[in-house]
Amino acid sequence: MNGEDRFEDLEKIRERLEFFRDLGVEFLIISGEPARKQEEMKKDNPLLISPGLNQSQEADVQAEWDRLIRKILTCQACPLYRGRTQAVPGEGNRQARLMFVGEAPGRDEDLQGRPFVGRAGQLLTKIIQAMGFSREEVYIANVIKCRPPENRTPKPDEVKACSPFLLRQIELVKPKVIVALGKVAVDFLLPGARSMSEVRGKFGQFQGIPVMPTFHPSYLVRNEGNKEIKRMVWEDMKKVLQLLKP
Ligand code: SF4
Repeated sequence: MNGEDRFEDLEKIRERLEFFRDLGVEFLIISGEPARKQEEMKKDNPLLISPGLNQSQEADVQAEWDRLIRKILTCQACPLYRGRTQAVPGEGNRQARLMFVGEAPGRDEDLQGRPFVGRAGQLLTKIIQAMGFSREEVYIANVIKCRPPENRTPKPDEVKACSPFLLRQIELVKPKVIVALGKVAVDFLLPGARSMSEVRGKFGQFQGIPVMPTFHPSYLVRNEGNKEIKRMVWEDMKKVLQLLKP
């Protein structure tokens, strides 16, 4: 690694630590612990508790996931398929105890076929890391699987057409907690919710699963200098962590 690369890495670390500080994070789990310590930490990681499926059940679940992803990738159930580069089904740990649900893919997501990979996605990744997890340990999906033109808010008909996919994903993942990112996800998971300011930070229920409504990361991007908003999101995530404790 040359001096320039090292400088870039240090810059990235500085930027991440500043973001954690703005969130109000009080402690960090540092990777690079001795292997034995990491194993111990894994045992305590509330996201890595196996649901105890046998081999044949695992194969069935895998086949069900494959069918679902194929259906999403080839779906033409609403007009949004016409403008997509590709559909964005979702990604992560399919047995995750923590699931994040956002609104719809944006430009970067549409190009890469992965959820939350643009600027808002990078913020979400940092929030997940601040919680002590990696993206691979949680499941991340959107209400809508194809990018709306100019990133407009999805129409009710589009949400209705796409909803069976997210419903099935939730059934298969069986998360212990869902974080609803922004109003579209909140409206889907907690119908009847009024403004974000009224519901944010208070657990609701979706089919018996606790749902934490919080701001969409793109709102944080648009209000980058506003530390108060970041702290509010972190307060919400602390409540989620509390609920995830074994
Ligand atoms: S947004 Fe959903 S319902 Fe519409 S075409 Fe894409 S996958 Fe199908």
